[in-house]
Amino acid sequence: MRNILLVEPDYRSKFPPLGLMRLATYHRERGDAVTFTRGKNPAHRALPWHRIYVASLFTWELPRTIDTVNYYRSSVVNAEDLIVGGVAASLFPEYVLERSDCKLLTGLLDQGGELDPGSPPLSSVLPDYSLLDSIDYSYSPTDAYFVKITVGCVRKCKFCAVPILEPKFGFSNALKSQLRRVESKFGSKQHLIVMDNNILGVDEFPTIIGEIADAGFEMGARRNKRKRSVDFNQGLDCRLITREKAELLSKICIDPVRLAFDHDGIEKPYRAAIGLLSEYGLKEFTNYLLFNFIDQPESLYKRMLVNMDLADQYGVAVTAFPMRFVPMNDVNKRHVSKGWHWRHLRGMQCVLLATRGVVSPSPKFFFHAFGDTPDRFKEILSMPDRYIVWRKAYETQGAQDWRKSFRKLNESDRADFLVLLEKLNKSRQRKQEVEGLRKFRGLVEHYYPGGNTPDNKPPEVDLGIQGLATGYDYALRSRRSVEPLPD
Ligand code: SF4
Repeated sequence: MRNILLVEPDYRSKFPPLGLMRLATYHRERGDAVTFTRGKNPAHRALPWHRIYVASLFTWELPRTIDTVNYYRSSVVNAEDLIVGGVAASLFPEYVLERSDCKLLTGLLDQGGELDPGSPPLSSVLPDYSLLDSIDYSYSPTDAYFVKITVGCVRKCKFCAVPILEPKFGFSNALKSQLRRVESKFGSKQHLIVMDNNILGVDEFPTIIGEIADAGFEMGARRNKRKRSVDFNQGLDCRLITREKAELLSKICIDPVRLAFDHDGIEKPYRAAIGLLSEYGLKEFTNYLLFNFIDQPESLYKRMLVNMDLADQYGVAVTAFPMRFVPMNDVNKRHVSKGWHWRHLRGMQCVLLATRGVVSPSPKFFFHAFGDTPDRFKEILSMPDRYIVWRKAYETQGAQDWRKSFRKLNESDRADFLVLLEKLNKSRQRKQEVEGLRKFRGLVEHYYPGGNTPDNKPPEVDLGIQGLATGYDYALRSRRSVEPLPD
């Protein structure tokens, strides 16, 4: 019997660590003792372990992941017994190997023999759902099946990690048997989370929908008097929505529908998909909007307007979930694409902080939060953080003056001003630099009065609109190199 420690670094994670859950099953079936923990745990570190596995997820969490790996190095004798796997380690293995003394376990793990001689392919091992009961951390939803039926994707979007992680597209694990195995070991679950990258691309899609409905997830399904739901959490490809597929989707209790509206070029199929799906009675959409890739703020603004337009046209709710692009090798999340300014990205973060990451399609909310033209949108994003987040409180205490001065700048001065703000943000001598400014000094003082970041924040986030941006519904989309939520 071996003592095995499974570690998830203490980054924010909505969904359970399925890789570690599969490892738990594998080791328990071999008679090993398995312990699960999150982050750096001194009591676990003090013990000797035969093997420690550390998970990784987002590449921008690699510094924290490495810190966790190194923390446990002294708890195993040999570096090869400290094993790091998961999405981020597979995407950026050299980053891990250069900074820690460990062994990597990367890729799909679908061949077998990766863990021990003769071990089964890890991807086919049933996740141990009971592992989650052993720690004091809430994943969401807690009562759900997590399944993956296909691998890869029919497309190769440049911003996405799927083509690197899973280069071949196709059917992989039958849904029915996945559900049956979970049920027989851990009991039936309330919800179904389907973690496929692009499930609409497989020929077996009609069969999959039939199996979902037969498993008790038909439209309107209830269990123990509570509504059940199916969530294709990586999003559905709007370009692959046909009338037949829309009708099939309407047979199951999908909630919400998640589509991706990643760039202006897919506006036509995106509009058509929402039209078709709404025709079949699907009314709740939470859609991903990529930004900071090859777009500009104007494009994001326009895509949010399209959502509002569609909501109005079809009488549906189209909530936007903007996701900032972060390149796979940017472990510090500092990437600013050509079409964006640092200040605008920062401003987006502030607005999303106030709206809890989502954009309501309500016109009243939207125009207040984002402005009534693309220029006003950029103006809002340019404001000092606290003027954006605590909009109401600061309106007469600085924001009006700031706006008056900002509007006097011509286009070229505005661009220079935004560049200056980025420079000041990085500067270690900010105070002196602000004091030495001749141009823009008055405006800069709104951001750094006396060269310091102000700390006189009112107690509550307040965009001046109450109760419109509700719900905190962010998906994982871990395989895409995008940031799910501002911090
Ligand atoms: S973004 Fe979606 S459609 Fe594009 S490659 Fe990734 S999973 Fe496929």
